[in-house]
Amino acid sequence: MPPENVKVSVVMPCYREAGNIADVLKKVRNALDSAAGNFEIIVIDDGSPDETWKVLTECGDEIAELRAYRLSRNFGKELALTAGLEAAKGDIVIVMDGDGQHPPELIAEMLRVYREGGVDIVEATKVDRGKESLFSRISAGIFYRLWNKLSGFEMRGASDFKLLSRKAVDAYLAMDERAVFFRGMTAWLGFERAQVPFEVGERKAGASSWSVLRRVRLAVDGISGFSSLPLQLVTFAGLIFLAFSIIFAVYTIVLQMTGRSVSGFATVILLLLVIGSLLMISLGIIGIYLARIYDEIKHRPRYVIARSIDKTKEEKNV
Ligand code: UDP
Ligand code: MG
Repeated sequence: MPPENVKVSVVMPCYREAGNIADVLKKVRNALDSAAGNFEIIVIDDGSPDETWKVLTECGDEIAELRAYRLSRNFGKELALTAGLEAAKGDIVIVMDGDGQHPPELIAEMLRVYREGGVDIVEATKVDRGKESLFSRISAGIFYRLWNKLSGFEMRGASDFKLLSRKAVDAYLAMDERAVFFRGMTAWLGFERAQVPFEVGERKAGASSWSVLRRVRLAVDGISGFSSLPLQLVTFAGLIFLAFSIIFAVYTIVLQMTGRSVSGFATVILLLLVIGSLLMISLGIIGIYLARIYDEIKHRPRYVIARSIDKTKEEKNV
């Protein structure tokens, strides 16, 4: 297919980006104008409580290539992104943040690498994590290391700024899970991939909406979705305890028979506490997987679209 006939879709999830999105859209549009002949921009408003949707409707009047969807509530970035991927019609889909931290100038470079490299996925990898707190840096470092070990896939320096071929998008969408983890799932997909380094820009307006709790939840989702090793660890801990209990049992019986019974009240309490904690943690680990199974088995829709701006359908439902 000649390059001018190849359609490029850019997908941007947005949550409380009223102060950024107009500016970002303009830049993305300019970048696409020169880098791709045929393109569309898809913005998913993830149920923002601010003016994001209003700004998007205004932008829709100016940018003919814009399609925007508003989710009925906040579903989280991963699902907003999935909604965008499902809406994208392009032969090439580029996923990026709507807060301007992913430089639109990189789009041309990613398209060039895609065309020359014959790959299916082009990942923009963070060479510098931007102005992030020390806590966030360290926790991300630990998470990626742990995730790589447990899942067997490599995801260091990964970002959600990626270019996917139609083949990769279709394969991604065939993964019909409710607990979506874009970075991990694209790593799972495999395919030939190329990397383009980038420096994370600064957020112009608003604040990052990732609280510690949200990060922990994403990390738990990410790990439980790709490895069942934590479940086996429960068995492993049980086996170690079994070995200890055999030694202790023999020891106690010998002492009893020789009439030198231990008077260790403290030992009994300590053992009870340790065993109690281990049991509860193990139950918790099983609970995480059980909750996941429950969530998946309900098979609810992954997201609900409340409003849309889609000129290709001649409908403006705002
Ligand atoms: N985002 C979203 N839904 C959410 C939270 C965030 O769609 O519930 C979007 C947000 O608008 C931004 C991207 O996800 O475009 C990344 O979020 P953020 O900038 O808060 O995260 P950070 O860059 O700090 O990782
Ligand atoms: Mg950001």
